[in-house]
Amino acid sequence: DTGGKDEASLAKVRVCVRFRPLLPGEEGGSRITWDEDNAPRVYVAPGRSDAKTFEFDRVFQPSTSQPEVFQGAGLENFLDAVMEGYHATVFAYGQTGSGKTHTMEGFVYQAVPGKAPQVKPGSTPSESLGLVPRSIEGLFRRMESKAETDSEQLFTLRLSFLQIYNERIFDLLNPVHLSGATTAAAGLRLRWNSREAAVSVENLFVFECRTPEEALGYYKAGVRNRTVASHQMNQASSRSHSVLMLTVERRSGGERLEHSAKLTLVDLAGSERQAATGASGRTLQESVGINQSLFVLRKVITSLAKKSASKSGSFAFVPYRESKLTVLLRDAIGGSGYTLMLACLSTLEASFEESLSTLHYACTAG
Ligand code: ADP
Ligand code: MG
Repeated sequence: DTGGKDEASLAKVRVCVRFRPLLPGEEGGSRITWDEDNAPRVYVAPGRSDAKTFEFDRVFQPSTSQPEVFQGAGLENFLDAVMEGYHATVFAYGQTGSGKTHTMEGFVYQAVPGKAPQVKPGSTPSESLGLVPRSIEGLFRRMESKAETDSEQLFTLRLSFLQIYNERIFDLLNPVHLSGATTAAAGLRLRWNSREAAVSVENLFVFECRTPEEALGYYKAGVRNRTVASHQMNQASSRSHSVLMLTVERRSGGERLEHSAKLTLVDLAGSERQAATGASGRTLQESVGINQSLFVLRKVITSLAKKSASKSGSFAFVPYRESKLTVLLRDAIGGSGYTLMLACLSTLEASFEESLSTLHYACTAG
């Protein structure tokens, strides 16, 4: 089943749900289930008086493979759109442990006692690679085949990778940002760039990549830096958003820029509420920051979904300015861009309340 190709090209905000399989030793519950006939529905407390049904664009059962998620979520259409000059953005949403990073990265990690887990070099079977490596590969494949059919066209791909932690922006590819000391620093600033008519991050490293291997190398380096920084900052990765930006530029003839479009892939902070994290002091402040940006993101996406549903609704207020994440992504998710919200959850009985809140969040986004 590869479905979803056509609807994906129409919907501006697309919402999919992915159940992760239970891990060894985990106890599943039956209060949240999917439709056995593959209808894009999730049932909560089926058979009870407070039963509820949620509808999405797609629902991926636990057995769904990485390539099936890539296909079914409509990523091929997103890559096509980027090649045509439209921005596309993918968010992985869900509580810590729900499968966001597996969905985006899919790398196999190696546990080293006393150290941050490392991506095992060369050991990830291609089947388990996540949306990011597949997107990198897909963009290069498209750039090559377009350049073959028209040698006048020149494509370049540029990559940046940052983390938003506690409403501060850190460059995952700049070594200066990885020492423990700089976590206390102010982070990078957002700035209106009049040349590009978009917001950009001041002093953020941008790498031009010639091959998929090169882009994947930078991505892996950033992923490693994220886990190392997280290790130093008490598991900050669950409280930070990681944002990978792939910008495709098309030039033709001499040097004239035809268009520039961005594919942004975001592994959002864990959506768990602060009460569940037993937060206090510094941690409490961090949790509040995260809730704020996830809260604003929901408001922004809801307004965008409303706008695209009603042609006359183009005056609706979209509250981008209320968080760093939405200011940064304003030009990507507003305007004519495409957005995918991929909500991750499990059937773990212990996670029932969080999973339910994930469904509510995803539902209002659509
Ligand atoms: P999150 O990033 O949301 O905190 P992870 O992606 O780290 O969650 O997933 C938590 C655990 O579940 C990891 O051990 C991961 O390998 C595993 N996992 C998640 N999704 C899947 C899946 N679809 N298939 C197999 N294992 C998965
Ligand atoms: Mg994660």
